[in-house]
Amino acid sequence: MGKYIFITGGVLSSIGKGTITSSLGFLLKSAGFKVTAVKIDPYVNVDAGTMNPYMHGEVFVTNDGAETDLDLGHYERFIDIEMTKINNITTGKVYFETIRKEREGKFLGQTVQIIPHITDEIKSMIRQVTKLFDAEITIVEIGGTVGDIESLPFLEATRQMKLESEESDVLFIHTALVEYLKVTGELKTKPLQHSVQELRRIGIQPDIIITRSPFPIDEESRDKISLFTNVRKDKIFTNYDVDTPYEVPMILNEQNIIETIIKLMGLPERKPDITQWINFVEKIRNPSGKTAKIFLIGKYTKHKDSYISIKEAMLHAAAYLNVKLDMVWLESNELEKGEFSILNDAMGIVVLPGFGSRGVEGKINAIKYARTKNIPFLGICFGLQLAVVEFARNVLNYTNANTTEVDQNTPYPVISMLDEQKKVTLLGGTMRLGAQKIILREGTKVWEAYGRKVINERHRHRYEVNPRFVDEMEKNGFIVSGVSEDGLVEMMELKGHKFFVGTQPHPEFNSRPMKPAPLFINFLRAVIS
Ligand code: GLN
Repeated sequence: MGKYIFITGGVLSSIGKGTITSSLGFLLKSAGFKVTAVKIDPYVNVDAGTMNPYMHGEVFVTNDGAETDLDLGHYERFIDIEMTKINNITTGKVYFETIRKEREGKFLGQTVQIIPHITDEIKSMIRQVTKLFDAEITIVEIGGTVGDIESLPFLEATRQMKLESEESDVLFIHTALVEYLKVTGELKTKPLQHSVQELRRIGIQPDIIITRSPFPIDEESRDKISLFTNVRKDKIFTNYDVDTPYEVPMILNEQNIIETIIKLMGLPERKPDITQWINFVEKIRNPSGKTAKIFLIGKYTKHKDSYISIKEAMLHAAAYLNVKLDMVWLESNELEKGEFSILNDAMGIVVLPGFGSRGVEGKINAIKYARTKNIPFLGICFGLQLAVVEFARNVLNYTNANTTEVDQNTPYPVISMLDEQKKVTLLGGTMRLGAQKIILREGTKVWEAYGRKVINERHRHRYEVNPRFVDEMEKNGFIVSGVSEDGLVEMMELKGHKFFVGTQPHPEFNSRPMKPAPLFINFLRAVIS
């Protein structure tokens, strides 16, 4: 049957529910429990694939090809488990499925309603995850903030799950902001109290509260929270400000939260062993080696979560090499004015994934800069494609070479649409998605990085390197170093350059704190060498 921990959030969004979910998952796994995690997104989109990163942050891609909320990336990195299509539940998915069943005639004679039909579908989707993972504990993060209209059916479904289970099989953890008011020098708990009232109004009494506050809360605030939320003081914890989210499992563990969860849920008594994690965090906080100043160039760099998996992958690799990272995120259109002095002290350049034409010429300029000045370069997805465009224009002298994504009438379509994409009419969930096998060419930089011939990395694209131009590229030193089983170009690199690698798949999605992505490691190695 499995046990469930539901994580709700109050007062504001973006208060770290994802980090709490991941941290608890990690701690419980480190204590020997079999854990999985689910993210509920109450929006009506079926998945995150059609959303703008400016609004929603990165689209995380799972091995089985789901385009999901970025929190699933946190779950993979913290808990070190592989997420799947079903680990992200949205209003869109729930209604889609319910309406499909209704059309099939599964509810003949009935009036199909939010309660019980929608809530039943939600419960069944959650339980399906537990079953797939054979999990002892399923942690379910409910996106949004309590009080939102769209999260109501999900909260109602979780309330029913508590009612239908053994008391100890379902636990509610509520996390909410406790703001520090400078003028009066106090922590203010009222908004948190109200958010708990909102939960109780719909029949949910939290078992544990985790405050999100700048520092651990004082006794007076704890008393108030306890009195007004009906949660005993020893079940109130704090997620206070720390240098990196990777510290959150440590601060929660110091407060013995797992002991409390174990007691409340009637689980066997075990303690998490997190020594390795502590070492990793120490290396992130105080690297003793060289500094690496990396410029990361893209179209959505103003939103800090747009490329979060790349940021984390870079951090993992830096911790592994004991390197201090100085990451500069740059909007590519800044590089379209012919002025590149901003890149003067770049020790490495990353061109980020992306879509559409805005900022493309800036990215191409950055690639030329890295290629001609022998600066280590990593081009991810669109970054590879634009490296091909740059090479075609400036080395092969193919005037106006381009990707057909940007210029349909280019005389040199060095990047063109994948054949399988030509018949695609619906845009949701139809890119080339998910993990695929890649065969690496011996003796190349990528082969050296991975240390093996066959790898698996995740994709998300509609365009590919046009095979028609590959011979000419290779003759001039830009060689194919990885191909898919059906012969698509997956990775390319420049001979004779310190490190100039483009990758069609996204290696960042497979990076873990203790298992950094090989291409990021070797890119950074080249940067500091
Ligand atoms: N826009 C390019 C494509 O669809 C690259 C996509 C990406 O960078 N994820 O092929």
